[in-house]
Amino acid sequence: MDALLTDIATVVGPGNVLTGSDVSARRVDWMSGEPCRAGAIVRPADTDEVAAVMRLCHAARQPVVTHGGLTGLVHGGEASPEELAISLERMTAIEALDPIGGTLTVQAGVPLQSVQETAATEELQFPLDLGARGSCTIGGNIATNAGGVRVIRYGMMRQQVLGLEAVLADGTVVSSLSRMLKNNAGYDLKQLFIGSEGTLGIVTRAVLKLQPRLPSERTALVACPDFDALTALLRHLGHRLGGALGTFEVMWDNHYRLLTEESGRHAPPLPLGAPFYVLVESLGLDPERNAAQFSDALEAALNDGLIGDAVLAQSTTQRDALWAIREDIEGLLQTLAPLFTFDISLPIAEMATYVEGLETALAHEWPKGRLVVFGHLGDGNLHVSVSVGSVSHEVRCAVERLVYAPLAQLGGSISAEHGIGLEKRDYLSLSRSPEEIALMRTLKRALDPHHLLNRHKILPPAPEDTP
Ligand SMILES: Cc1cc2nc3c(=O)[nH]c(=O)nc-3n(C[C@H](O)[C@H](O)[C@H](O)COP(=O)(O)OP(=O)(O)OC[C@H]3O[C@@H](n4cnc5c(N)ncnc54)[C@H](O)[C@@H]3O)c2cc1C
Repeated sequence: MDALLTDIATVVGPGNVLTGSDVSARRVDWMSGEPCRAGAIVRPADTDEVAAVMRLCHAARQPVVTHGGLTGLVHGGEASPEELAISLERMTAIEALDPIGGTLTVQAGVPLQSVQETAATEELQFPLDLGARGSCTIGGNIATNAGGVRVIRYGMMRQQVLGLEAVLADGTVVSSLSRMLKNNAGYDLKQLFIGSEGTLGIVTRAVLKLQPRLPSERTALVACPDFDALTALLRHLGHRLGGALGTFEVMWDNHYRLLTEESGRHAPPLPLGAPFYVLVESLGLDPERNAAQFSDALEAALNDGLIGDAVLAQSTTQRDALWAIREDIEGLLQTLAPLFTFDISLPIAEMATYVEGLETALAHEWPKGRLVVFGHLGDGNLHVSVSVGSVSHEVRCAVERLVYAPLAQLGGSISAEHGIGLEKRDYLSLSRSPEEIALMRTLKRALDPHHLLNRHKILPPAPEDTP
């Protein structure tokens, strides 16, 4: 690798090829305290440099792993000493804001929060939002097809991208930077790269679709008496608020209790004891109209018995305090450690039965085990945390089987929004048919025949995969 690194240094500058302790001083990702194990970290400044680096790596058959903000939750950024990490941390330029077309063109290393803040300067918004907003990058959001807390209103990352540019494994630059909403000139190539977790190309730039800013956000935490009431509330708010329903985030009582009373991390805004707590939000243009519509809808839900109790945020501080409970992933990890976390999707109507079944199965194997559930219920997405006192490989496999196995029958998915990475690839066949997996392999071989880009991520290794 040394000769290759010397050549790469002539492209990116010697200060942008990190080796030794400069590599191991970095963490492999946000979740893990483990040091980065990549053979080196290369930090290109622009698309030309990424392309030149990839041409050299292609000639040397050097496998690479792309690094964005490293907040991914499925070990997608993990690199072995035989792999080079290509970090987009210097590619943070915001290139063009078009307020008329409502588009923003950025380099892929820009943090999500910077994009949100830039959009706001023109009374626009970039609606993708998630807890890791300060660290995750647009390239990472595209690569993972990120979801988050506004999917119910605006869709996933896929829906926010008009165009993108990617560097292929051999260094070819595919610039598909369309700024139009409509462009049916042949295959929509950007879709190949969105959600492919860096296995088909390195995303270097993107054109993002901005939305009109809806300055009025009304937020409430409500308690639901049972699962039927919860799903009825979702339908009720959908009808009463129409397109204004911006969030429907559910916490099972075990999640709410853990982060409030049990850990003492947050004062409980509503008394404990209800089976479900929901963070709901209504987005609107006119503050008075939005507030009236929201409180009317909640009052009707209260009268119909869909909710037992509710607290409405009266200020930004109160709103932030409600969100802080839902977004306290760190609290969850600290209080429940050691634990396994899962991101799954399934039809909403099946969720209560699924969770009850999982609870029973876990209690049978580990009577002292803990199960904590929350999620973007309106999107059919649950985040499931399981703590059974050990995270050994054997225990992990046993827990994974219990969590994933029922999903195939229910038509659910082993990954709702985090992707497959290394963590879930052995279970891919539970959510994808043999024909779908074969087509994925065909695409991978066509674009990256030497398996240089994020090798062995998403698809389990096949004999012909050696670089
Ligand atoms: C507190 C917290 C909350 C979170 N909440 C959510 C949530 O609500 N919804 C959600 O979907 N996710 C969530 N995540 C997961 C994570 O933030 C997303 O997956 C995010 O999109 C990853 O972006 P990143 O820049 O950190 O990517 P990284 O972690 O650096 O990379 C993720 C994957 O994408 C690849 N990749 C990165 N950049 C590029 C690029 N430019 N080109 C090609 N491949 C690339 C990497 O190789 C890797 O496989 C959360 C994470 C944390 C820590």
